[in-house]
Amino acid sequence: MQNLISSNEGFLGSSTNEVLKSLDAKGQNPEAIIVSCSDSRVPPEVIFQKKSVGELFVIRTAGNVVDDVALASIEYACLVLKTPLCIVMGHSKCGAVGEALRCFNENDQAPTPALKTLVKHIMPAVEKTKTSDDHLAKAIAEHALATKAALMEKSQGIRESVESGSFKIVAAVCDMATGKVTEVS
Ligand SMILES: [Zn+2]
Repeated sequence: MQNLISSNEGFLGSSTNEVLKSLDAKGQNPEAIIVSCSDSRVPPEVIFQKKSVGELFVIRTAGNVVDDVALASIEYACLVLKTPLCIVMGHSKCGAVGEALRCFNENDQAPTPALKTLVKHIMPAVEKTKTSDDHLAKAIAEHALATKAALMEKSQGIRESVESGSFKIVAAVCDMATGKVTEVS
């Protein structure tokens, strides 16, 4: 904890801190919403080389799963902030998708109630890609696509924004071996 406190004290005197103060007064206008995994190796700000605050509106959950609370966060950015783009970004070797795959292959249940809920969100993508050679990689891409589709299905506001052309949703996968983000379709 002390390490983090010291880091925050360093932040107080930085140029980014000045940007934060100006955005506190002006409000935020991020260029994109990023839905990504909580995995510590795929922070969107680092992956997309954002050096300051206010640039990305980020939702991170295990397996980049969008539940109702995450959906409300995306709706806020889309409908209130008028952020024009959302990238749903899965990543290679995702542990959350891996757990869903394990449950599928072993006909097993996830070990905790919360994890069961997580696996339930991912399982349709695992089932849909079961005949693939690289099942995990295909399930990760399919899950990003399914999440993109779910945003449209579950939120009338998001659906209308996409249909009017003011909002775009992209499904993508970050390859952790190279750091490259590739759109999937
Ligand atoms: Zn992951």
